[in-house]
Amino acid sequence: MNIRLIIVALLPMILGQCGFSQPSKETSSNTMENKNKEYSHTDASKVNLSDEEWKKVLPEDVYYVARMKGTERPWTSKFENFHEIGTFYCAVCGNALFRSDTKFESGCGWPSFYEPISKSSIIYATDNTLGMERTEVMCGRCKSHLGHVFKDGPPPTGLRYCINGVVLDFEKAAAAEKKYKEQQGDKK
Ligand SMILES: [Zn+2]
Repeated sequence: MNIRLIIVALLPMILGQCGFSQPSKETSSNTMENKNKEYSHTDASKVNLSDEEWKKVLPEDVYYVARMKGTERPWTSKFENFHEIGTFYCAVCGNALFRSDTKFESGCGWPSFYEPISKSSIIYATDNTLGMERTEVMCGRCKSHLGHVFKDGPPPTGLRYCINGVVLDFEKAAAAEKKYKEQQGDKK
């Protein structure tokens, strides 16, 4: 009788320990976001890091496009043929850039959008490299190179924002909403 009582008393402790040991395994992933302290979906303040500093925290392919104004190979982005509903963010700083309902099939080999999420989310510059006159598109928060904008897009804007998928992060609508509610809850 006494032994049974002891087992019953100990059982929740044993089970509890098993339960506690699981989450620590999951939190060890995603080292990029841990290293990159500028990444935020809520902080709108401008980010001003040198290329040298970015090189330390960004994956090589992201650094090459975002900071060296490189271009990913066409048809290689996981976002090129992608139809989830949600928001696309700058992979460098987390700034919201495009909504999935402004994404369209351009057939050009890169993820394409007809409108940014807000006027301030993007900045523009004239790009005369490669013997062409193009308009470069950069992140409005961290000034990372994203791609170019062309005037052959669909209505209502007639614009085609041709964006390197490697500098985009995506969050599904439901996940973003859940996070937003949690943050609002934290503030209360
Ligand atoms: Zn950015």
